Order: sequence, then structure tokens, then C-alpha cells
Amino acid sequence: MSYDVELLNVVKKYGNTTAVDNVSFYIKPGEFFSLLGPSGCGKSTTLRLISGFEEPTYGDVKIGGHIVNDVPAYKRNVGMVFQSLALFPHLTVGANIAFGLKLKKLTKDEIDRRVDSILDLVELRDYRNRKINELSGGQRQRVALARALVIEPSVLCLDEPLGALDLKLRIQMQTEIKRIHDKTNNTFIYVTHDQGEAMAMSDRIAVMNNGKIEQIGTPKEVYERPKTKFVAQFVGESNLLTGKCLEGNKVVVNGFELKGIFPNELCGKEIYISIKPEKIMVAKSHYVRKFDNSIEGKIEDFIYRGDDTIYKISIGDKFELSARAQSIGTQFSKGENIFVSWNVEDAVILPMQG
Ligand code: ADP
Repeated sequence: MSYDVELLNVVKKYGNTTAVDNVSFYIKPGEFFSLLGPSGCGKSTTLRLISGFEEPTYGDVKIGGHIVNDVPAYKRNVGMVFQSLALFPHLTVGANIAFGLKLKKLTKDEIDRRVDSILDLVELRDYRNRKINELSGGQRQRVALARALVIEPSVLCLDEPLGALDLKLRIQMQTEIKRIHDKTNNTFIYVTHDQGEAMAMSDRIAVMNNGKIEQIGTPKEVYERPKTKFVAQFVGESNLLTGKCLEGNKVVVNGFELKGIFPNELCGKEIYISIKPEKIMVAKSHYVRKFDNSIEGKIEDFIYRGDDTIYKISIGDKFELSARAQSIGTQFSKGENIFVSWNVEDAVILPMQG
């Protein structure tokens, strides 16, 4: 059975370092929830507070509605998968998976039944008697998942479990972990610094920076509607312009007037405008009837990447934009005069902090 998890104003200090700085969030039973952020932002510490390997300095950690601050890891019924996997290399797949069940003193028949059923889930039934050092990276990953799941945890914590794999295998395993999540309907909490990975797997993502949560939302929300400058720049790439909001849905960027939508309280204020490169249309002519903003620019440079091309575009001497165009239709060359167009709903206007 999957449990909910709640953090209430949680702080974790190590000497003078505040690793987790007043973090609060709620994870629904059965949710796939990711903690995403750069190295050192406090993701693993947050996960260790949930799994019971750390105690909060202040605040409360709740699992299944109960405060568990001083309940040790082995009494929380929380499974853990580490990047290092921590498998016993000379033991068989079956023995690795059975390890936790033996500690629980289950009968041999019960252990066999549970090991078989979990091997079916990770599709490794024929590998039960193989040693770990005779398996591929992806197969080891599945054993580590099976070993964590076989104890039937109410919550499964995964700390960068795919970090050591090459890109192709990582993408395969993302699909695999998602499949296992959907099948078990367990609560999964996943730590990663890779935004693509978090986007591909999660129901919701908490974006962390400097020990704090910057934004929590669905992959689409954090990608398309970032709430802070940090989220705009960390989740996918963004053109980040600085400007000022004026009355009548106008924003001025370096003396250049554009259309924009923003809440009333930002009127007259300095702001950031975040536009994803793929939301900007590059064309030889105006698209005034289709787009809210359509302005003249010049291709300064481009990077051809096969499936798409990234264009660096100057708008007079006012500002620069980067636009991503699929490899379909017209390709543009360096020095060419073009028009860039976008819609106001694709340009997110953010308050300037501090
Ligand atoms: P992340 O998982 O996002 O890379 P961590 O949670 O591992 O970040 O670390 C957050 C901060 O806390 C870092 O500055 C790190 O150096 C510090 N930290 C983590 N664990 C310890 C520890 N056991 N002792 C001292 N400092 C720690």
C-alpha cells in the first residue's frame, strides 16, 4: 500500500551549512514525485530526511499522516535505491533480492514466492541464479529496484539511480522505472539533476536551488510556466530578457516596445521575460496576423544539430534571441535578415527578485 509524504517547514543544517532551508511539500499516495536541481542544492538530503537516514534540525517529516522525525530508517518501511546500487556482487540475483526478506525472518516459501513475483515484475525471472557481476548495467539496475520493492515499501526513494548509465540505457531504464511505478502504484520519490529525466517520468517536480523549493508543478507547468528566473533557466533553455511593464499590455526591452501579458501588480515594475527558443518562429516575412509580436532581426549565427537548428538572432542593437527551428521548411543563413514572431502567452513575465 502506498503512503503520502509531507514535509512541514523542514530545515537541515550541517554546522554552518543549511542543506535544506525551510522546505514544505505534500506528496500524494501513488504519486511519482521528483526533486530536481543542480548538484549541492539539497535534493539528496531531502530524500534522506524522508527515508530516515537523517533527522531534521527543525520542522516535521510525516509519512502516512504520522510524524516520523526520530523513527529510524529500518522502521519506516521506505525502500531506497542508490546510484551505487550497493548490490552484493558475488551473490546471485535471487540472494540479493531475498536479503531483506531474510532479515525480516519470513519463511523460505514466502521468500521464494515474493522473489519470483518481483523478478516477473522487473522481467528477470530467468536470471535468478546469475551472479550480479555477470549482469549488464541495466539488469543490475533492475535487481536494485527489485530488491527495494520486494519488501513492499509504502514509499520508494530513488537517489540518481541512473546517473552511472550511458544515455541510451538511461532512457530505456526511465521507461522501465515508469512502467514499474504504474504497475505497483507505489509512491516514488526520485532525485535527479537531469531535467529531461524528471520531465519524462514525474507526475510532479519540485525544482530546488540553494536548499529551497523554487517551484512545484507538473512537468508542463515548470517547463512552460516557470515562476522564477532560476526555474526558467534550469528547466530547458530560455531567452531571458530584462524589461519594464507598461500600461496597455506593453513591455519595454532596452527601449523596444513589445506586447506582453502580466498581472496588474507588475505594471511599472522591472521584470524578466522568459521565452523558450522553440516558441519563436523565424521566417522571411512578417506573421502579423498569426502572432502577437513580429519583429525584424538578423541571423548572427546558427548551430545545425540534425533534427533542429539553433539560430542566434540580433534585434537591431537592442537585444538578442535564440530560436530553435525543426529541420523542416526554410533554413536560414548567417547575415540573413528575417522576422521573429511569438505569441504573448508564450512569453512568461516574471518579477525581478530582490
Ligand atoms: P544534492 O543532492 O542536491 O547534490 P546534497 O543534499 O547532497 O545536495 O547537499 C546539500 C548541501 O549539504 C551541500 O552543500 C553539501 O555539501 C551539504 N552536505 C550534505 N551532506 C552533508 C554532510 N553529511 N555533512 C556536511 N555537509 C553535508
